Amino acid sequence: MPEPKCYDLSDLRDWREPSLRYAVLGDPVAHSASPAMHNAALEALGLPERYCRLWIRPDQLPEAVQLLPKAGFRGVNLTIPHKMEVLPLIDRIDPAAEKLGAVNTLVFQGNEVIGYNTDGPGIVRAIHEEFGVEVKKQRILILGAGGGAGRAIAAQCALEGSPKIVLSNRSLEKIEPLATRLGPKAIAIPYSQDALAEHLPAVDLVINATSVGMRPGEDSPIPTHLLEPRLLIYDTIYAGLVTPLQIAATQSGARSANGLSLLLHQGALSLEIWLGRTAPIEIMRQGLLEFVSGKRPASK
Ligand code: NAP
Repeated sequence: MPEPKCYDLSDLRDWREPSLRYAVLGDPVAHSASPAMHNAALEALGLPERYCRLWIRPDQLPEAVQLLPKAGFRGVNLTIPHKMEVLPLIDRIDPAAEKLGAVNTLVFQGNEVIGYNTDGPGIVRAIHEEFGVEVKKQRILILGAGGGAGRAIAAQCALEGSPKIVLSNRSLEKIEPLATRLGPKAIAIPYSQDALAEHLPAVDLVINATSVGMRPGEDSPIPTHLLEPRLLIYDTIYAGLVTPLQIAATQSGARSANGLSLLLHQGALSLEIWLGRTAPIEIMRQGLLEFVSGKRPASK
């Protein structure tokens, strides 16, 4: 078994790793935790295939999507910045992914490349697991609703039937058309302290889908004084065990969770699409926890 590492387009052009049949494509991707959970699952299921990281830059995506099935890949995940850019490159899109406007999972089937989105259903499962509530009953504020993850989450909340969806984004022009598309329950607001102070009292759940808090030393995307103990705070970021938004939530007395549960559930759903069988979710969770706590080497 070759040691999983970070491969790139030049490796894909001359693929020499027959056991590596699944991957995550991104830029950057070197520190992705996805191999840890997928390889733990494949190993536990007694399957010989493994999952690796592929560093693919935006201009390389069309060639990579053509090469992957020829190299023997059965499926891949897509992360920053490929989830929307891949849309013109696929032959078929799952109807649910089409509604979310982004694809994070590809399946190579015969001559076809098929796109799915497991981030949307993944967030519903993650919120239920973390807080014991249903997205469809929550009034929700989504920070960073103009990004790839934020748009998919917002569209999923609308599909679920959430009674109120407040979209917030630094670049307001990106979310105004989205709010119109999602219907009367959605409104677009600026990413400013004044706007957040006005709208936070009328929501139950806050989801951070910005990248604010990912890099060491960054502040919380919402200051502590705007948060209340009754709020549920979900940060899609999973870098570090506790994110700056979670620290702010704790200081205000609010419950919070980081994005590991989203990573886990979207990953389990992708694996089920590829394998057509139930994913061993507790083994995947264990693989992830070992990775983030440093017990599983970054190369695995
Ligand atoms: P993206 O498409 O690049 O979107 C980034 C978002 O962050 C945009 O809304 C952007 O606003 C906002 N943003 C960036 N810097 C900002 C700043 N300084 N102030 C305010 N807003 C800022 O990225 P993505 O793929 O959606 O990922 C976004 C986050 O979700 C990342 O932290 C990622 O780790 C997380 N995520 C986690 C999972 C998981 O499994 N847990 C899955 C997917 C994504 P503008 O539109 O104004 O630029």
